[in-house]
Amino acid sequence: MLHRSITVAGVEVFPLCDAVGAMGESIRRPMAQMFPGGCHGGSDEWILHFHCYLLRDAAGRTVLVDTGIGPRDSLAAGWAPVPGSLGAGLARVGTAPEEVDAVVITHLHSDHASGAVVAGASVFANARHLLQRAEIDAAGEEVLDRVVRPLGDRVQAVAGGAEVLPGIRVLLTPGHTPGHQVVQLGDLVLTGDVVLHPVQLEDPRVPYLYDADPELATLTRVELLDKVRAAGGMIGTAHFAEPFTRIA
Ligand SMILES: [Zn+2]
Ligand SMILES: [Zn+2]
Repeated sequence: MLHRSITVAGVEVFPLCDAVGAMGESIRRPMAQMFPGGCHGGSDEWILHFHCYLLRDAAGRTVLVDTGIGPRDSLAAGWAPVPGSLGAGLARVGTAPEEVDAVVITHLHSDHASGAVVAGASVFANARHLLQRAEIDAAGEEVLDRVVRPLGDRVQAVAGGAEVLPGIRVLLTPGHTPGHQVVQLGDLVLTGDVVLHPVQLEDPRVPYLYDADPELATLTRVELLDKVRAAGGMIGTAHFAEPFTRIA
């Protein structure tokens, strides 16, 4: 699906819709189990969008936030609608993979990290790949083998907040995974999986079944959304049907 770009603090932000589909049966559960305590209005259908974001600053430098579900044989193949269409999305906004200057992987779940390495080779060959050190330390062997190790010295491990480009920062937001990070520019935060579903905007205390540490994830979600709200800001989500949501 095509989504419109916006410009924030002089940076053009292109949502790239990698895929749209329901979660595969292997991990799909009734909504009341996925988001305990959330108000679902009787609907048990969750059609996920899988969004990556390309940021292009005034100097033409580019940052890709997340790399999507990846190819047919990716680690996400067991549950996500592979293959993803990130390559086509990038082409549509006029950026070749080798032109991407930096990649931020919010976390190492298979629907966020699987487009970084295809057939054993780094797709964004000239980009540094920012990951939190805590995320790498917590990763399993399979994702280390398939994603992190093939990236070699393109991995830039950070601990906590770090600047990606002037005005574009990552922030450590643990809970969904131990080293989850979000990207902030101006009043926009690209939230990765800190927020999964709109029910968590209605009540940020609603946890998600697949949060590694639900208590910490909730603390992080409440804190981050409070901060964005106080600034009258916006979030760009990975899995909502509409990429951008202003937090009022
Ligand atoms: Zn979408
Ligand atoms: Zn995740």
